[in-house]
Amino acid sequence: MRDFFIFITMIKNFIRTASLGLLVLFSACNLTQNSTEEKQIIPPPVKTGFTKANINAMAVKEELEFLSSNDLMGRNTGSKGIEKAAVYLEEILKKNDIKPYYTTYRDSFEVEGSFGYNIIGLVEGTDPVLKNEFLIISAHYDHIGLISPIANDSIANGANDNAAGSVAVLELAKYFGAASNNKRSILFVFLSAEEKGLLGSKHLAKRLKNEKLDLYVNFNIEMIGVPMVNKDHMAYLTGFEESNLADKFNEYSDENILGFLPKAKEFDLFRRSDNYSFYKEFKVPAQTISTFDFTNYNYYHQVQDEADEMNIPFMTNLIESIIPGIQTMANTPTKEIKLN
Ligand SMILES: [Zn+2]
Repeated sequence: MRDFFIFITMIKNFIRTASLGLLVLFSACNLTQNSTEEKQIIPPPVKTGFTKANINAMAVKEELEFLSSNDLMGRNTGSKGIEKAAVYLEEILKKNDIKPYYTTYRDSFEVEGSFGYNIIGLVEGTDPVLKNEFLIISAHYDHIGLISPIANDSIANGANDNAAGSVAVLELAKYFGAASNNKRSILFVFLSAEEKGLLGSKHLAKRLKNEKLDLYVNFNIEMIGVPMVNKDHMAYLTGFEESNLADKFNEYSDENILGFLPKAKEFDLFRRSDNYSFYKEFKVPAQTISTFDFTNYNYYHQVQDEADEMNIPFMTNLIESIIPGIQTMANTPTKEIKLN
């Protein structure tokens, strides 16, 4: 069934390439042909998410491979491996001129006699008033470290869970940092110790609440490395009925991106990822987007959760496709996303 989605992705990419080709053709013909002929070759409108190639598949692949490499030893909170991940994320934020939110990129907290570090970059809003309202785009970058070996491999690489989501946040930070087209401010947050009970997000949500942050929406990203099977939407949103986020997001995107997954409700995924910490503290829309549908990936919390199991074209497409929704959330004159 995965081939089906690869096929769809190929078709979409083909349409995108063909449309660009037609545009070039049109521009070239424009000089020589009369208006009747021009009308015949005007390309059909391309969907919002696919008009520009903002997200680079090679960067997605490279970042995913680094974060889930054996060298990082499964990114257990407090380990040397996750420290390498933290430094890597900080370096990319810095290279892309994304400011640290606090004096450094790190928000630190104690965990099991050691330290966990959330990494936070800020892309400040461009509007003097709206910049005081914040979106938090987040993903946990920790994983479970070393587990019982299978065929001498004991490293739980956590490619899908959640190097994939971390790469999405990183790529979105790069995009919005460069575009600077957000009136509201956006925090790009890489959370630690999610696997130990949402500890990083609990700490940060409390801290931001104490600091009286005006949080509009938390959009958390988890396990997006493999497409869902036979769905008319690209991903699902946990806590679907908690707010109008999915509806508004799809409207903003002019595409059916976020849908409802009954299993997500059955397993109460709304309360099982970092979005819940922000929901509890702030009582604002705080939800997780994911494509792990309980049938499309066999390696949840296993040593085989590796980078080569990820569908890079799908991930790239999905990250690209959520840009317009996030951009619109960051720019509407009023807060349109509300709890139900
Ligand atoms: Zn996870």
